[in-house]
Amino acid sequence: MDALHNGPEPRYWEKVRTVADTLRELEGPIIIVSHVDPDGDAIGSSLGLARALKAMDKKVTWIADPPRFLRFLVKEDEYSEPIAHVPEGATLVVLDAAEPGRVAGAPVEGFVINIDHHGTNPRFGYLSVVDPSKAATAQIVKDLIDALGVGWTAEMATPVLTGLITDTGNFRFANTTPEVLHTAAELVGHGVKLAELTDRLQWRPVGYFKAMGAVLSTVGFHFGGLLVTAHMPRGVSVEDSDDFVGIIRYAEGSQMAVFLREREEGVKLSIRSRGGVSAQAVAVKLGGGGHVPAAGATLRGLTLEEAYPKVLAAVEEELRRVGYI
Ligand code: 5GP
Ligand code: MN
Repeated sequence: MDALHNGPEPRYWEKVRTVADTLRELEGPIIIVSHVDPDGDAIGSSLGLARALKAMDKKVTWIADPPRFLRFLVKEDEYSEPIAHVPEGATLVVLDAAEPGRVAGAPVEGFVINIDHHGTNPRFGYLSVVDPSKAATAQIVKDLIDALGVGWTAEMATPVLTGLITDTGNFRFANTTPEVLHTAAELVGHGVKLAELTDRLQWRPVGYFKAMGAVLSTVGFHFGGLLVTAHMPRGVSVEDSDDFVGIIRYAEGSQMAVFLREREEGVKLSIRSRGGVSAQAVAVKLGGGGHVPAAGATLRGLTLEEAYPKVLAAVEEELRRVGYI
């Protein structure tokens, strides 16, 4: 796993302070972007940082397309449309993006600051803070806002806490360290309405519940139940936030869960694992990346029927590596 750089970032605080000092000194525009298919951490860490920098009177543009289930966090006119070029003299801050190819909204060019927690991040950018020991990019953004020295408001703390909540599966995953809980406590102390926030984060469009029925009818068990799979049947769709892999991964006895969804460009995989099996290793084999317990990939140009055997072969290899089969 060494090649995937899954350990803590050496000189973490020094790097956070360097980024904070750099941002504080900047007079030009700051453009904030994150990854395609933004999740709670992508939106939360970007919005939190954008609000903090605005409070410091920086010229900030946040380029995003917040998914429906997170739009309640965002004020109208708080985000902008994608751009084809980063203007001369601007700084591009990229948050939670595992690789330059996953960045949405702007080309990765010019003075780039890369802030992320994916072990597979190739450490692109002029400055980077990439620490896979952090539960969420939002954790790094919390430290960065502290280092910027701007006064915390509930408006900043709410999206940052959202990133921590969503990337830790509501403080249930193994990445829920004492540090995460301390940070969450601090953020709640800055005025977040926690019960309101966690309730709102679980809302789903009504169509989601019918779609869930259709998805669950596709559940399959492989390798004696060590792998559970499901896919989005053709003709069924839900607007964003359909974390179906997060449901099937609780099949008793499973060590790995894969959810497949056919898209224009190919089949998008969401992979989860436990018990020493690495979702990340499977994702990397299939051209993707992510974290050890949660990763993803896109099998370009393939149909669902063609994708399944590739998934089974990659998972089989990983189950063998760990000695389960
Ligand atoms: P999800 O299954 O929720 O889409 O993604 C799980 C994790 O894997 C996320 O941290 C996400 O950033 C990462 N991930 C998902 N798809 C890809 C991909 O195609 N390439 C890379 N490098 N990472 C991915
Ligand atoms: Mn994240």
